[in-house]
Amino acid sequence: MTKHILKFPNPFAKSSKKDKIAIIAIDKNDFPKWIKKQKDSLQSQVKSYGFEAKAKQIAVIHDKSGAPETILFGIAQPSYYLDTATLFQYIQKTYSTEFINSHCFEVVSSHEEDVANDICIGWGLGAYIFDNYKKNEKTNPSLLWPKNTNTKEVTATIEAVYLLRNLVNTPPNDLGTDELADVAKDVAKKFKADCKIIKGDKLLSKNFPLIYTVGKASPREPQLVDIKWGKKKHPKVTIVGKGIVYDTGGLNLKPGQFMRDMKKDMGGAAHALGVAYKIMALNLPIQLRVLLPIAENAVAGNAYRPGDILPTRKGITVEICDTDAEGRLVLADALTYACEEKPDLLIDFATLTGAARVAAGYDLPAFFSNDDNILDDLRHSSKGSDDPCWPFPLWEGYDANLNGDVSNIRNEGTGRAGHIEAALFLQRFITKEETDWIHLDCFAWEQNGKAGRPKGGADTGMRAIADFIRDRYQ
Ligand SMILES: [Zn+2]
Repeated sequence: MTKHILKFPNPFAKSSKKDKIAIIAIDKNDFPKWIKKQKDSLQSQVKSYGFEAKAKQIAVIHDKSGAPETILFGIAQPSYYLDTATLFQYIQKTYSTEFINSHCFEVVSSHEEDVANDICIGWGLGAYIFDNYKKNEKTNPSLLWPKNTNTKEVTATIEAVYLLRNLVNTPPNDLGTDELADVAKDVAKKFKADCKIIKGDKLLSKNFPLIYTVGKASPREPQLVDIKWGKKKHPKVTIVGKGIVYDTGGLNLKPGQFMRDMKKDMGGAAHALGVAYKIMALNLPIQLRVLLPIAENAVAGNAYRPGDILPTRKGITVEICDTDAEGRLVLADALTYACEEKPDLLIDFATLTGAARVAAGYDLPAFFSNDDNILDDLRHSSKGSDDPCWPFPLWEGYDANLNGDVSNIRNEGTGRAGHIEAALFLQRFITKEETDWIHLDCFAWEQNGKAGRPKGGADTGMRAIADFIRDRYQ
């Protein structure tokens, strides 16, 4: 039931014998100069449309027979990665299947690499639709790769986003712990990476007590996926992703409206796999490791309880205050395991707290780092990736809130600034001296939906982190 997850549309062509429709992508600063150089008849046609090359504005120029010949499309300055998704969907909606199948689209305006890349990423993401459970009748128009496009980079970006969205969108009855691990295995296989899985009771004998305990109430066994790829001589980057395939909250059961979309609680794992996909597709000079603690937080007689005191891989004890704060538990064992190898950079993704959404909203993932330079660098670079992430402090003053009365640590603080307290909880499992660490508390979901980013599973910080890693090591 997971074969659809790695099946991607390809709305691009290298060459084509089909009739071509020209696309002129232009921003509003360049437009006045451009229009002055055009024939009078074209000038008046464009004027009659009120076209000024505002971002996402479209004007179709027709030939004498009335057939579409050239499409003018307004792009933002600086370019925005999703703009051409609007154009893609306009073409899909406006023209018949026959017309789309017998034509191909060609950007005839010339662009620098970053703009050409954005034009293609928007086009590619415009083609995304989750249609495994409801048939989609739409036909995808095909775009000739524009000059100066970094096709490898663009394809890697688009496919990483498709993969992430397909993973999050697949319903929880079809994406259990085995299925999520299977997709991870398939991704590893695609790039000839090594993939090991520790599953069920083995988690106890191999000392991952928290991953085991969070997942033990579900008949779908908890597991830890461990992917390794790259050459030993390159710097080690480890990415950890929270993979709770469904989060009922456990015995601290979530109310209905908060449980509704909890299929997305494996969004951290989807982000980790998305980043890994792009890194491996680009063959970046790093030694990559991906750790996915995977479990279903279910309700049963053998479920873990509020009040339980659990051992951890690190050796400290944690008292459970709330079984719905399970993400930090499975991450704690995985982060401890990651640090045993002393990676140069350790990143974890998790749909971790509601507090991060209260503080920064749905679209702005909250991130934390034990390295002050990373706080500035990532905030800045994420804006350039059109995938902004916002830094929050690992505020020392709140750390003591996590101390237990009868255990070393508790899985809940005061409930104020819960995203900071959750990050501080995770920090207790990080070895600072050797490892730069980034924790990203993200939503993995688009609430409203827009062209190129439909309602449902969405990347929130995945592209920013992939670019950050590329720029740090390339
Ligand atoms: Zn939870």
